[in-house]
Amino acid sequence: MVITYPRSERTARARSAADRLAADGIDAVVFGWVDNAGITRVKSVPLARLGHAAEYGVGAVPCFDRSLVDDSFAAAPSGAGPVGDLRLVPDLDRLVPLAAQPGWAWAPADLRAQDGAPHPGCQRGFARRAVEAVEERGFSVKAGIEVEWVVADATGAPATLGPAYGMTRFVELSDYLREVLRALTDQGLTVLQLHPEYAEGQFEVSVATEGPVEAADTTMLVRHTVRAVSARHGLRVSYAPLFTEGSVGNGSHLHLSLWRQGRNLVHGGPGRHGLHPDAEQFLAGVLAELPALLALGAPAVASYLRLVPSHFAGAFRCWGLENREAALRLITGSAGQANAEFKCFDAAANPYLVVGGVLAAGLAGLDAGLPLPPETPSDPASVGSAERLPASLPEAIAAYEKSALLRQALGAGLYEAVLAVRQAEAELFAGRTDADVLEAVRWRY
Ligand code: GLU
Ligand code: MG
Repeated sequence: MVITYPRSERTARARSAADRLAADGIDAVVFGWVDNAGITRVKSVPLARLGHAAEYGVGAVPCFDRSLVDDSFAAAPSGAGPVGDLRLVPDLDRLVPLAAQPGWAWAPADLRAQDGAPHPGCQRGFARRAVEAVEERGFSVKAGIEVEWVVADATGAPATLGPAYGMTRFVELSDYLREVLRALTDQGLTVLQLHPEYAEGQFEVSVATEGPVEAADTTMLVRHTVRAVSARHGLRVSYAPLFTEGSVGNGSHLHLSLWRQGRNLVHGGPGRHGLHPDAEQFLAGVLAELPALLALGAPAVASYLRLVPSHFAGAFRCWGLENREAALRLITGSAGQANAEFKCFDAAANPYLVVGGVLAAGLAGLDAGLPLPPETPSDPASVGSAERLPASLPEAIAAYEKSALLRQALGAGLYEAVLAVRQAEAELFAGRTDADVLEAVRWRY
């Protein structure tokens, strides 16, 4: 349950938080939010202004509802682009000193109207509404988002050329990786694993599950932190869906489990692999909506250079136990561990849109009592009947445009803004070569 504090109480809490941060040597706080193109944008205030910012927010230009990956903007209806103001209001519950940026603290922020009312285009607000809808039906969801990145040297070349999952990478980047772990832990995050991934210079970190909104906040924080530690080592980070043409990309897999009354419904039930009927219907709902959800979770032209068969990216609309080529990989284990992993999403996605969209689709599956289709127990590429997910951004846009479910869940304003951004990015890169597309976005996310 997310608590919304009244303004006066926010100020009092901000002032005592500011006192604590000042004692820790913090000078300023960065407020982050993720736009519809998947870019994290920020504003900051000196510590002395935290109380004011918590009460009134800081100004944010509404045209960032329509910002694109290259910092241009999709046209706003009726020329409203440059007009108006929103307020970026920090969530003090997530305020944390940044371990790799001494003197700075960070908080995720909500977008509000000037009178303090929620902004309909606020992606974090959308995710929160989806969580509330889940809770109203007596369920809860635990979520975790994996972070994959390519670390490069100052010239932009992968910083280690050791083999996939190879120890060479840990030896070559030992101090760097240790500092990544330490910084994440110092910021209160529980790291589960850190390992070299498949592509050159690629690593992955996973952290403990939490509520869906918190998991989206955490993924923003993890990414900032990895970037900041990298900068301290003279290294650069790419979260782009694909770094090198033809190679394996950066996924942003969403793990989730559905719970009721303290029981994980992905475990110990009468269905396939221990699924409870509610979990089957929930997952069926997400699978049914997956082509449209790709407009949220694989939002870039570059996303479809990653989302191809035989790259563990989950390019097929199907599910299977421990099947890494299925968009939905079911993971069993103990009651605490069993979960469903959506592999088709990448790091260009706004994580709040992803969790909100997935929860809304899952609830629709529950409401409709949707049956979970048969399992795909082998590589879907070898199964003639396996359905490919959209293979391009325009195909995902077409599915999104048909989704009454997402229109209703997102609300007209947010739905339209996302659509405008997707169409504008498809247009921006139309006719460009794959190499051009990668070049344009490699360092943007
Ligand atoms: N890097 C792969 C991707 O693009 C995922 C590899 C894995 O963790 O299974 O999603
Ligand atoms: Mg991975």
